[in-house]
Amino acid sequence: MRQQRLLNPTLRDVPGDAEAASHQLMLRAGLIRQLSSGIYSYLPLGLKALQHIQTIVREEMDRAGAQEMLMPALHPAELWKASGRWDVYGPELMRLEDRNGREFALGATHEEVITTLVKDEIHSYKKLPVTLYQIQTKYRDERRPRFGLLRGREFLMKDAYSFDRSTSGLDASYQAMFDAYVNIFTRCGLQFRAVEADSGAIGGTDTHEFMALADVGEDTIVHCPSCQYAANLEKATGSITNTRNSHTDLATTQPVKVHTPGVTSIKQLSQFLHIEPQHIIKSVAIQANSTPVIVLVRGDLDINEIKLKQVLGVEDIVMLSEAEIAGLGSIAGFIGPIGLSTVRLLADTSIQGLQNAVVGANEVDYHLQHVDVERDLGELNYVDVRNVGQGENCIHCGHELSFAKGIEVGHVFKLGTKYSESLGASFTDENGLSEPMIMGCYGIGVSRVLAAVIEQHQDERGIIWPNAIAPYAIHLLTVQLKDEAQLKLSEELYQTLTRAGFSVLWDDREERPGVKFNDADLLGFPLRITVGKKAGEHVVECKERRSGASYELTVEQLLPHCQ
Ligand code: ATP
Ligand code: MG
Ligand code: MG
Ligand code: MG
Repeated sequence: MRQQRLLNPTLRDVPGDAEAASHQLMLRAGLIRQLSSGIYSYLPLGLKALQHIQTIVREEMDRAGAQEMLMPALHPAELWKASGRWDVYGPELMRLEDRNGREFALGATHEEVITTLVKDEIHSYKKLPVTLYQIQTKYRDERRPRFGLLRGREFLMKDAYSFDRSTSGLDASYQAMFDAYVNIFTRCGLQFRAVEADSGAIGGTDTHEFMALADVGEDTIVHCPSCQYAANLEKATGSITNTRNSHTDLATTQPVKVHTPGVTSIKQLSQFLHIEPQHIIKSVAIQANSTPVIVLVRGDLDINEIKLKQVLGVEDIVMLSEAEIAGLGSIAGFIGPIGLSTVRLLADTSIQGLQNAVVGANEVDYHLQHVDVERDLGELNYVDVRNVGQGENCIHCGHELSFAKGIEVGHVFKLGTKYSESLGASFTDENGLSEPMIMGCYGIGVSRVLAAVIEQHQDERGIIWPNAIAPYAIHLLTVQLKDEAQLKLSEELYQTLTRAGFSVLWDDREERPGVKFNDADLLGFPLRITVGKKAGEHVVECKERRSGASYELTVEQLLPHCQ
């Protein structure tokens, strides 16, 4: 490809609203452009990189025995009602009506569609197991789309679904996908960790998340440097309070016991919890079901009680005014009075839980273990307080645990029979008996992987593409196009390299050399070949983007070197 004709609008300055490095670089390098919040166009170079990731995903899925297909993005509401998720999925599901008033959803995930399809097409044990996958655009009305492709509202996902006759069959299908994921992320050049995750509301048993390690990641990984143990925070702290998904069932959390040495005021609490200054606490809400959750609302946000209930998906909440909070003493001090006076009015079932909270407050070994204020709860930051006992030591080997930030790039999940039962996907076994199929589901955020790769592979000058993903392998750069020797040699090299099977972008633009070199660093292809002053002697300069190593080669040496 000749750069002169390429749609590649590079930017010199960092776009003001882009926080994540990958987001900034994708805009600066002209890979993507935003159409609306969380919705992006891929320009030619961005699309090429995305396609390379898709190719890797396809190869590994196929190799694992999965079959590719493609399902619609537009789903009739009846399917989601049949599984029960029309009501519980919450506002993340994009909903619309057709001209006749029939309700539809834009696919956020495809369990309903695939299960219905398999129910209609597979009836016998002889056709099982089967794993089907697609690479397709998903829609989720994220509360807080951000970081460019890392959290979009329209994004590309690979989703796979396995159907088995037995739990041991599911174990095998799950393992095959797990192994494929390891291959995929390794080939993409990602530094990642597979961590145990919580099965949460979706219902199921085993589940792992694949986390690309990066500070910008919204998830926290707990891992043991000494043994194999690695889990996401929810799993590690032994409870599910994933309020990010409003469909998560908060009522299954354990009663809370709180021990907060030396914290006697809300101000100290905020320091103790490492809350940013701009996140000054305005209100505290306590869920009054059997499981108290303390919610700290950012002071700079206008969150009312109704909204908070919606977000948390709970019915009873206690809101405190700023003045009330100011008047409170220790945490134990304020849970007590609220629990016993106000909450009783709301729901009797709540009292036990809150009493536990109070009782545990001063006990030894009950820690205010984790505090995840930065977790994306949309406009809310929340803290959830859990009883994790000895929490800081690894349960497997006693070693101290480490924490890291991660980007969830993939998720594998043993679903069991939740969808096959609600949607009626069953098969007849050898004895003619009807059984529900046993399912697994497996997602990869393909477009998120692209951003995660850039997050991990960049420096102050730009992107440093891993070979497997780079839009082009070679950036051929001509310093002076007006110089006949340089032009002629560049043309020859472009032809030769392209014919030899290399993907080459030739910078044949009439730009100052400085601009070209800067753009080459920004675009970050693995090898830059510069045709300059020594063109007459058939000598070019090679520069490796990653190592920074540069050396001169004769044209004769060049081809063998590239291979
Ligand atoms: P998150 O916790 O980041 O919201 P999720 O757990 O809701 O992700 P899944 O339902 O497990 O996501 O979807 C499978 C994969 O799709 C995720 O592992 C992630 O890589 C990707 N993904 C999910 N939401 C988004 C999004 N808004 N933008 C880009 N990729 C996403
Ligand atoms: Mg999500
Ligand atoms: Mg998740
Ligand atoms: Mg997930």
